Amino acid sequence: MNDEIDLAGVGVGPFNLSIAALADELPELRTRFFEKRERFAWHPGLMFRGSRMQTSFLKDLVTAVSPTSEHSFVNYLVRHGRFHAFLAAESSAVERVEFADYLGWVASRLSSLRFGVEVRDVAAVPGGFELRHDQGRTRARHVVLGTGRVPAVPECARPHLGPNCFHAIDILARPLHLQGARVAVVGGGQTGAEVVLELLRGAWGEVAELSWVSRRLNFEPLDESPFTNHLFTPGFVAAFHELDRPRRQSLLARHKLAGDGISLSTLRELHDRVYQLGALRSGPRVELLPGRELLSLSPRGSGFELHTRNNLDGEHESLPVDTVILCTGLREQLPPCIESLLPELERDEHGGLQVGANFELRRRRAGDGRLYIVNGGRTTHGIAESQLSLMAWRSAVILNDVLGRRRFAVEQERELVRWRARPREDARSR
Ligand SMILES: Cc1cc2nc3c(=O)[nH]c(=O)nc-3n(C[C@H](O)[C@H](O)[C@H](O)COP(=O)(O)OP(=O)(O)OC[C@H]3O[C@@H](n4cnc5c(N)ncnc54)[C@H](O)[C@@H]3O)c2cc1C
Repeated sequence: MNDEIDLAGVGVGPFNLSIAALADELPELRTRFFEKRERFAWHPGLMFRGSRMQTSFLKDLVTAVSPTSEHSFVNYLVRHGRFHAFLAAESSAVERVEFADYLGWVASRLSSLRFGVEVRDVAAVPGGFELRHDQGRTRARHVVLGTGRVPAVPECARPHLGPNCFHAIDILARPLHLQGARVAVVGGGQTGAEVVLELLRGAWGEVAELSWVSRRLNFEPLDESPFTNHLFTPGFVAAFHELDRPRRQSLLARHKLAGDGISLSTLRELHDRVYQLGALRSGPRVELLPGRELLSLSPRGSGFELHTRNNLDGEHESLPVDTVILCTGLREQLPPCIESLLPELERDEHGGLQVGANFELRRRRAGDGRLYIVNGGRTTHGIAESQLSLMAWRSAVILNDVLGRRRFAVEQERELVRWRARPREDARSR
């Protein structure tokens, strides 16, 4: 495969899939999206049966900017003969397996996707970029990186990674036998909660002891209240992007629970189960340990001793366990294939990447083409960047930029909330 195109995508997760789905409406644009997996899959290692989306099904690949697109979730329902049955449940939080099936259905309908093709190198060349991949080379005017985020592993756990201490990202692909084991789950977000639930269901055998360790002072719910939901609007992202770095950093910390909290339904289910186990005095011994900072891990027999500091009373504690499951989240990381471009990338004084309002990675020397990134600008665009909420809008911003014209209407909706100060002249004229 040696060809020339307008836009190449590296990685086909939901975010680049959204760009590919919208680009399907643009016959004038030659696009190609490369994915190293053999077929589309959405976080398969965490696809627990019964887990629900944390975002509405309307926040699909296309609807926000192209509601008549055939790649919408509603069209998926209609085509599969489930529209009325779906509505009957009156639920906007669909099961993740169903949303993954929708994503896979769209992927199967797009001719621009290439599966089983890893991009090995992206180099700047006259006229844009050259991609070297498993099927040859492709020249593209512009490139969009959509390679996702990587597991965040606490420094102290890194030397101990192995069959008894691992990140949860691929837990369903692991041969796990935890019958009679003492297990610690580290991390108090949605994934931590879902893994604890699975353990209590006996998914990998009935554990003897289960300790759930979280740095947060309590097991806290996702904030889905109406005004918090306005943080996931184009208007807020624009306002956030214009702020200086210290202000953005402080907002990211304050907005934690808007993106990283636990769904209320999951919390209720967990509470019920733990309560029932205590009431019936059966099943594993469960210890809920919020407010604990993991300080270190030391090997002990075939397991570990976890050392924590209790942030409530300042005391130090230790916990002997056989298995440690790290539900410590994902972090941004540029893919190795753009190594040759790294020296060109603009950084702020803290080494942070500079991602423009058009999602372009700013480069010291502007080349002939633009290098975009999705899911790589949390510090520049805010918490919405790693969520599905604004994915269709962001895809449209990028495609408009590639086309050099306003093909999709991405201008800000009338915002209910005025985030920034009104310009002075504007204020006087009122
Ligand atoms: C379990 C889980 C549930 C989530 N649920 C929600 C939710 O309900 N609502 C919400 O808003 N957000 C949710 N998120 C957050 C977010 O929507 C997802 O993380 C989403 O998958 C991000 O999409 P992505 O395309 O950036 O990355 P990914 O889905 O990680 O996809 C990246 C793809 O790039 C491929 N790739 C990497 N390098 C290369 C290369 N060199 N060449 C070719 N291919 C490559 C990878 O194989 C992968 O398929 C969830 C996250 C997780 C982990």
